[in-house]
Amino acid sequence: MMNPITTYAPGRAELLGNHTDYNEGFVLAIAVDRGTTIRGQARDDRQIHLHSREFGKTQVIALDRLTSEKVEPWSRYTLGVVDQFRRNDLPVEGFDAEISGNLPLGAGLSSSASLEIATVLFLMKAFGARLEPMQMAHFAQMAEHDFVGVRCGLLDQISSLMSKAAHATFIDCRSFKIRHVPFPDKTSFILANSGVKHALVASEYNERRSDCETAAHALGVKALRDVTSEMLQSHKSDLADRIRRRALHIVGENERVLAGSDALQQGDIARFGKLMFASHESSRVNFENSCPELDQLVETARQTPGVYGARLSGGGFGGATINLVEAGREDEVIRALTASLPGVDCLVTKAADGALEHAASHPTL
Ligand code: ADP
Ligand code: MG
Repeated sequence: MMNPITTYAPGRAELLGNHTDYNEGFVLAIAVDRGTTIRGQARDDRQIHLHSREFGKTQVIALDRLTSEKVEPWSRYTLGVVDQFRRNDLPVEGFDAEISGNLPLGAGLSSSASLEIATVLFLMKAFGARLEPMQMAHFAQMAEHDFVGVRCGLLDQISSLMSKAAHATFIDCRSFKIRHVPFPDKTSFILANSGVKHALVASEYNERRSDCETAAHALGVKALRDVTSEMLQSHKSDLADRIRRRALHIVGENERVLAGSDALQQGDIARFGKLMFASHESSRVNFENSCPELDQLVETARQTPGVYGARLSGGGFGGATINLVEAGREDEVIRALTASLPGVDCLVTKAADGALEHAASHPTL
């Protein structure tokens, strides 16, 4: 039997910078301390046997007959990466693999990117491709575009791959330069999954994305990254109300990420928390990617001692909020959140290592 291979990639949480990635703006993210593991080995018959422990399902497909229509939706994240390897003439053969993970799925923690990144690492190890980190993230992203049909930005994949424990990852989504900003001690994060799943997430997401493109086009810039609050103010009458509010959100988020990164450098956690609340308010009013349950969780957080800041994290339209809390007060905060929205599922995490750091510190995996 060929050598079994194990790879792991964590989920991520967006700290600040909502929907800024595809607008070529700024994001602060962390990797969480949960993720997806892939275990398996190469086969010599060009067949793929993929099993998901969470779904209790197996997808079998011949490598040479691989298209997204022929395979079940859950398997498209992995098989989309296989497809990217093939399209880019990277070495890939048949394999057996089992997916298992401890992330909540569809909860805004990007189990999808963690699965894609774990797959990229798995294929590299199994078949010997050598890729730069940014190429790895890119293939994972393209797998989701082409095979799943979600035009996600690169944020999820980069933060799953390149984050560092006890740091926030600052990503410039134009230059794709990454910076690790030390996170003040004695804080932790509570990710509060509302349990709400919007049926139209993919179409809402794509709609927001095209609204942003419309705004950039109307303002005569390549992307909303190039717009400042002042510019937006002076072109107010050129934009339809909805488009203007979408732009206002992105421009405000970019400014908040820069301010938040400064606040972290100075260890000013209170200021950082305020920026998180402001971010949520802008999601609610301008980008309209919140929902009553997320608003309720953020409002409760605002009134609970020990919480520095809270906001929706990820695409929105349901999913989770991220709460920055004083270490030691997690239980009180979880009690308050649960009382305000019964059924909320809370998970405590620190800023964790991304897949690259993880692989480096667990070389036997
Ligand atoms: P999120 O990325 O926020 O968790 P998505 O809808 O983007 O939500 O991705 C979740 C989807 O990813 C699942 O519905 C499933 O198709 C796939 N997925 C993630 N983890 C697994 C897993 N362990 N087994 C099978 N499919 C998975
Ligand atoms: Mg996802």
